[in-house]
Amino acid sequence: MHIFVTGGAGYIGSICVEQLLDAGHAVTVFDNLTEGHRAAVDPRATLIVGDLQQRSDIGDALEKVRPDAVMHFAANALVGESMTDPSKYFRNNVHGGINLLDAMHAAGCKRLVFSSTCATFGVPERMPIDETLPQRPINPYGESKLIFEQILRWYSDIHGLTYVALRYFNAAGASETFGEDHRIETHLIPNVLKVALGQKPHVEIYGTDYPTPDGTCIRDYIHILDLAQAHMLALTAPHSAKYNLGTGGGTSVREIIATCENVTGKKIAVIEKPRRPGDPPRLIAGSEKVRAELGWKPQFQDVEKIIASAWAWHVRHPVGYGD
Ligand code: UDP
Repeated sequence: MHIFVTGGAGYIGSICVEQLLDAGHAVTVFDNLTEGHRAAVDPRATLIVGDLQQRSDIGDALEKVRPDAVMHFAANALVGESMTDPSKYFRNNVHGGINLLDAMHAAGCKRLVFSSTCATFGVPERMPIDETLPQRPINPYGESKLIFEQILRWYSDIHGLTYVALRYFNAAGASETFGEDHRIETHLIPNVLKVALGQKPHVEIYGTDYPTPDGTCIRDYIHILDLAQAHMLALTAPHSAKYNLGTGGGTSVREIIATCENVTGKKIAVIEKPRRPGDPPRLIAGSEKVRAELGWKPQFQDVEKIIASAWAWHVRHPVGYGD
């Protein structure tokens, strides 16, 4: 198939592109390179630099490429930033997404895999978080992704789009070639590894008074290669669906830091800070549906292996993609 990947120069997109190419698909990447990196685009793919905010950029690109399916990663994805700049989240994640859907409709492309998030669930009433729980986001990031999920339903009903929305929990780790490099890094694991590399003096822990065993937030960390595998399976899903995607394991901020110390052999200095607005205490996935319906089987259940793959990439790329 020919797959059109928005945000294919970003962290998750770049690794999905690599996996698609390895599986024999042709890939066109569409990215505005504000968050993504040119060097993160696999050289076997074609890169179109364009912006989803510009209807003509995405319209022209899809008209020219006429792909069999789209994987849609291009979005802003920081909980903290969304709490100070909601407009950016609704413009890029909702308005940009509508431009994509309209361009797909015009180009006759009827299949989409959408990068959604567990942040659409807010603070759920029970764990693990399966697809039956109500979605009540507590930050504009989660709200913007939920709105787009709802829009997808109508494009499916009205225009015959088949979509799969994958609600990721915490993507982490790296492939042999591509890894995580954000220009402003807010994520826990890369920030801890920067301390191990001697690039930051300490890592901050945002909140030590959560109702969890060690007082820090618990997240379900999923290896980026397992996540990429789910995208590949979603390409051939028989009908539209929404799936939660995590391993079902929970790891606290303090446990992540301790595991990074084991993996790197370095002591990590920490500073305890107040809670970060918008962070739910505990997010753990119930992923039975995607296992049963798409046959997804994560290979990396162990957070130590996930961190080891991230560490190996950071050691080989100490300045990331260098741009
Ligand atoms: N976190 C932290 N220090 C950091 C970055 C993150 O304590 O430097 C915490 C954050 O509050 C959350 C967890 O680590 O509880 C995971 O945050 P991350 O930003 O990696 O992913 P998110 O869960 O927000 O998608």
